[in-house]
Amino acid sequence: MENCIFCKIIAGEISSKKIYEDERCLAFYDIAPMAPQHFLVIPKEHLTGANKIYEEQEALIGHIFGVIRKLTSVIGFSDGFRVVTNCGKDAGQTVDHLHFHVLGGKELGSFN
Ligand code: 5GP
Ligand code: ZN
Repeated sequence: MENCIFCKIIAGEISSKKIYEDERCLAFYDIAPMAPQHFLVIPKEHLTGANKIYEEQEALIGHIFGVIRKLTSVIGFSDGFRVVTNCGKDAGQTVDHLHFHVLGGKELGSFN
C-alpha cells in the first residue's frame, strides 16, 4: 500500500530493527519503546486495523500469535507480556496497518 510506513518497512524501503520475518509477518522493535521490551508484529498483508479482521484472516492472526509466543519465549519475557492493538482514533492508532504491540520487561500496571 502506497504511503504506508509499515508496508515500506516490509519492502525494506525504511529500515527497522528486525527480529523475525517469514512469508506472512514481520516483527521489529518499536522506534519509540513504551516498555523495556517493546516490539511490533505486523502481517505482510496490508489490513488497516483490527476492524478488518474477518474469518479469512483467522489463520494469519493465529500464525501471528504463534510467532508472538515463540518470540516472547526466547527474548526474555519470563514474567509475562502484554499484546495490544489500537484500532481507530479513539484508541490512538497512528499507523493504519494492523500491528500488535508486544510489551514487557517490567510490571506494566493496569491501563484505563
Ligand atoms: P499505534 O499508535 O498506531 O498503535 O502504534 C504505532 C507504533 O509504531 C508506535 O508505537 C510508533 O512508535 C511505531 N512506529 C511508527 N513509525 C515507526 C517506524 O518508522 N519504525 C518503527 N520501528 N516503529 C515505528
Ligand atoms: Zn501497510
